[in-house]
Amino acid sequence: MADVKLSGVHKYYGNVHAVRGLDLTIADGEFAVLVGPSGCGKSTLLRTIAGLEDPDDGTIMIGGAVVNDLRPRERNIAMVFQNYALYPYLTVNENIAFGLRARKTPELEVRKRVNEAAEMLGIGNLLGRYPRQLSGGQRQRVAIGRAIVRKASLFLFDEPLSNLDAQLRDEMRTEIKRLHQEITTTMIYVTHDQVEAMTLADRIVLLRDGQIEQQGAPIELFEQPRTSFVARFLGSPSINLIPATLRVEGNDVTVVFQSGESLPLPPAKVTSLRSANGQQVLAGIRPQHFGRATGAPLRDGVVRYSTVTDLIQPTGTRTFTTIKVGGVDAVAELQAHDVGRHGEQIELTIDLNRLVLIDPASGLVIA
Ligand code: ADP
Repeated sequence: MADVKLSGVHKYYGNVHAVRGLDLTIADGEFAVLVGPSGCGKSTLLRTIAGLEDPDDGTIMIGGAVVNDLRPRERNIAMVFQNYALYPYLTVNENIAFGLRARKTPELEVRKRVNEAAEMLGIGNLLGRYPRQLSGGQRQRVAIGRAIVRKASLFLFDEPLSNLDAQLRDEMRTEIKRLHQEITTTMIYVTHDQVEAMTLADRIVLLRDGQIEQQGAPIELFEQPRTSFVARFLGSPSINLIPATLRVEGNDVTVVFQSGESLPLPPAKVTSLRSANGQQVLAGIRPQHFGRATGAPLRDGVVRYSTVTDLIQPTGTRTFTTIKVGGVDAVAELQAHDVGRHGEQIELTIDLNRLVLIDPASGLVIA
């Protein structure tokens, strides 16, 4: 078991500044997910923690000790890679046991640990096979098994599920989450997939250009993004960002779209906006915050909105529907049977309690 603390970490590749003065603390037993678009520095950061890259500046502490000068194998970490990195000429059994044997672990102990790990991962019947005789998901289980038997104090995962098809990815994601519940070792997991990040993490660390844009519990980042980058990165389909202007009249604040339509903000949203009359904003409405209007009375902060359907994309459970809001295209996520056909007049509700307002100049969320 170990906590991880990075202070002032910088990494350059030539003149590419891949990690830019990063401070990060991951608690003992926490499942932290480093997420962000391709090239934001997630793998570099993970490899720096592993000792596969040397930082140009800053300190890396694992379990309270500075490890900058320790080689990877001296850091007591286990790493699972995207490409599995199994030895093709060794059986599953030998692959899982390899690290233990290399460390001269007594043979009885090796067998016990391999069997335990194989049991936990449901691959007990595959121990005699070679990697080429396994499916992608089975190979990834073997790679995870090899990490488990080491009883490392820290697990690092570098996009471990990227090579798997969608269904297998969902299954393995569940298994990794269960594994963390069982062994409670600190885990740091890199992915560019926001669904993986949301579903696995105790804490998401969202990176942008080698720096932390925002970190926190998944639901906190989703519901209270601090910037338009965070708002757009999390959520699928993406949040709708609709250009508008704020109008302040006494205690009331209204969002006025370029189409001339306006929506009154609920009282809880207006406190920070009293002096924002005339300010340009992007009104962020998530697809999930639309609904089909019924005859029922509306909750506070929920308004009706009449529009016309354009593209209709059923997923079985929900239907993504392109509509116009404030004169621009937006996507509403509705119930499967809420919409019939293209070009239909439709009465929606919008939950303005969940609206985020962004200053388009700075990209910061202002309410
Ligand atoms: P991510 O994992 O988020 O996709 P990386 O950590 O792989 O990002 O890369 C961060 C930046 O560093 C990118 O601009 C990438 O091109 C650059 N980079 C990564 N590895 C190397 C390398 N070995 N040599 C040169 N540039 C690199």
